[in-house]
Amino acid sequence: MKISKNVVDALVEQYNFELESGYIYLAMVHDLKDKAWDGFAHFMDKQAHEEYEHATKFKGFIEEIGERVELKAIPEPKKEYKSVLEIFETAYDHEKEVTKRIENIYDLALEEKNYVVVEFLNWFLEEQVEEEDNFRTIVEKFERIHENWSGLYIYDHELGARG
Ligand code: FE
Repeated sequence: MKISKNVVDALVEQYNFELESGYIYLAMVHDLKDKAWDGFAHFMDKQAHEEYEHATKFKGFIEEIGERVELKAIPEPKKEYKSVLEIFETAYDHEKEVTKRIENIYDLALEEKNYVVVEFLNWFLEEQVEEEDNFRTIVEKFERIHENWSGLYIYDHELGARG
């Protein structure tokens, strides 16, 4: 089956964006580690790995439909944040941006009647429900804890338990 050029381009772009997501989260890991929030750093490290897994899924699919995968330059990520809350708010916003991008490719694939791409993207749509829910919940908890140090200490331990 033939997949439209603009759909392939969008898939390659998303492959690159997943790598960029991993890079952004990894920069957050380094900032958190630097400030001795080991549990939050651990959680974000797992998230970065997930992004690389997402990238690998895109890469595999693009190869499978017989198209060429290409790497683009990844922008330098933000290295320092004002607070742990800012990190998780940024991550939540980032996941909303990912969802928007996946939906755009979905629209494009539907327009072009590239149904295998639609089928492939279904997994990502469901995954985004989970990703957004994770970060939304964390941001809400941070807002509740506010700048309470013992609360942050306990939550750091809790997120450090992410398997
Ligand atoms: Fe992702």
